[in-house]
Amino acid sequence: MAVEMEKQQRFQRTVMREQDPVERGRNFREVPYGYSEQEAINEAKRCLQCKKPLCVQGCPVNVKIPEFIALIAEGKFIEAARKIKETNALPAICGRVCPQEEQCEVRCILGKKGDAVSIGNLERFAADYEREHGQVEIPQVKPSNGKKVAIVGSGPAGLTCAGELVKEGFGVTIFEALHEAGGVLVYGIPEFRLPKAIVKTEIEYLQRLGVKIEKNFVVGKTATIDELLNEEGFDAVFVGSGAGLPSFMKIKGENHIGVYSANEYLTRSNLMRAYENQAQTPVMKGKRAVTVGGGNVAMDAARTALRLGAEKSMIVYRRSEAEMPARKAEIHHAKQEGIEFNLLCNPLEIYANEQGFVTGMRCVRMQLGEPDASGRRRPVVIPGSEFEIPCDVVIIAIGNSPNPLIPSTTPDIEVSKHGTIVADTESGRTTKKKVYAGGDIVTGAATVILAMGAGKSAARSIIEDLK
Ligand SMILES: Cc1cc2nc3c(=O)[nH]c(=O)nc-3n(C[C@H](O)[C@H](O)[C@H](O)COP(=O)(O)OP(=O)(O)OC[C@H]3O[C@@H](n4cnc5c(N)ncnc54)[C@H](O)[C@@H]3O)c2cc1C
Ligand code: SF4
Repeated sequence: MAVEMEKQQRFQRTVMREQDPVERGRNFREVPYGYSEQEAINEAKRCLQCKKPLCVQGCPVNVKIPEFIALIAEGKFIEAARKIKETNALPAICGRVCPQEEQCEVRCILGKKGDAVSIGNLERFAADYEREHGQVEIPQVKPSNGKKVAIVGSGPAGLTCAGELVKEGFGVTIFEALHEAGGVLVYGIPEFRLPKAIVKTEIEYLQRLGVKIEKNFVVGKTATIDELLNEEGFDAVFVGSGAGLPSFMKIKGENHIGVYSANEYLTRSNLMRAYENQAQTPVMKGKRAVTVGGGNVAMDAARTALRLGAEKSMIVYRRSEAEMPARKAEIHHAKQEGIEFNLLCNPLEIYANEQGFVTGMRCVRMQLGEPDASGRRRPVVIPGSEFEIPCDVVIIAIGNSPNPLIPSTTPDIEVSKHGTIVADTESGRTTKKKVYAGGDIVTGAATVILAMGAGKSAARSIIEDLK
């Protein structure tokens, strides 16, 4: 009996407690509560401490997973956080938003017979414990080496690059177009998934190390990259300006009042704090909101619309759930909260009343055909299946591409046909001397951890090239 129970515990993960779905649908507080100390220890004890840990191979920054989990199992929580930080500078963020189910956890050996170890939840626990107990260590920064580096953009790529360089004695200034630093971590991902206080702590930590942040500074307008290099005395520039240019469907009615790009909708809600009802840049709080798309951005927008007061928040996606690029956990949370999924359904037109306010959307049903270039089955229109969805807000979340400002104001930098900056994936070096790039501006919209990895690689090249 005891053996059976032990076996069961080994193959079942410790579930993280969460806010009740109905209650959380009306507030912006974080959904999962995090592990208690005992829950974290119980979960950590499930790890088999594999000699050849496949989980580490799945992590883009090779966090020493079994080592930090062993420390948690022994109750050494601060030491566990420091172990993670040897390779990942932002564990409280990654523990919350990384797609672990496709990276480390999918490779966990326990996943073959039951639940993989909850690596992301344990990473989050250790990082939160360190921060909440005031134990964040400020590392020794090397004396100034007299070199200055400019970083364009304060998203995960820019922040990571800045952190690596400042520790090596470089003078680092981040130039950020918005009035808050953090990139998508502050303007895109909502409070209920990533509390902004956590991002703020990480940014303050970098400032304590000596990183300067110039906000409201649009590189390409306020100063170009050439001006930063030739007139402002910077020895190198790292471009981490992300992919913030929203795509639209190019259908009739997309310019009506009440149609937003997910970028604008989420920025108004997160960064301009429209949800607090005191914002100078409010957002329309529709009664029936339709979000078009199937990725993380779409889930965030639909769940935000619900929290802003929509009686019905709906997703419209042209393929089936299996093809949805959003994380499984986000789809699950959205469904729990009552978001309605209209799958295999494509918008054709958005209607408005005489004043131009959105009143509805005409859609058509789809079926899946042969796989397309992405390997996913192509959605094909079912003739004669058109129908209408009454709605007053439409949020378009069908993708983002890089903002063209830096490519268009920086001569000699090669840009791909997709508008991304061409950079070596290992070194971050671009075709322009002294200019490096990484994150979404190079890969197109991707993930936080990949942007961080690119920021780190570019920092290594800058250190090497400027020595
Ligand atoms: C709503 C949403 C949800 C997401 N959810 C997840 C998730 O759950 N997990 C995950 O891993 N990834 C997620 N992503 C993707 C992830 O956030 C991005 O891949 C990541 O933030 C890219 O980092 P970055 O540093 O390259 O760019 P960004 O985070 O986009 O930061 C770029 C920064 O550069 C600034 N900038 C741009 N142009 C200029 C200029 N000319 N001058 C000065 N500053 C400039 C921008 O204002 C911005 O602050 C999500 C994205 C969105 C939009
Ligand atoms: S693969 Fe799973 S069990 Fe093995 S070390 Fe990694 S987390 Fe632990």
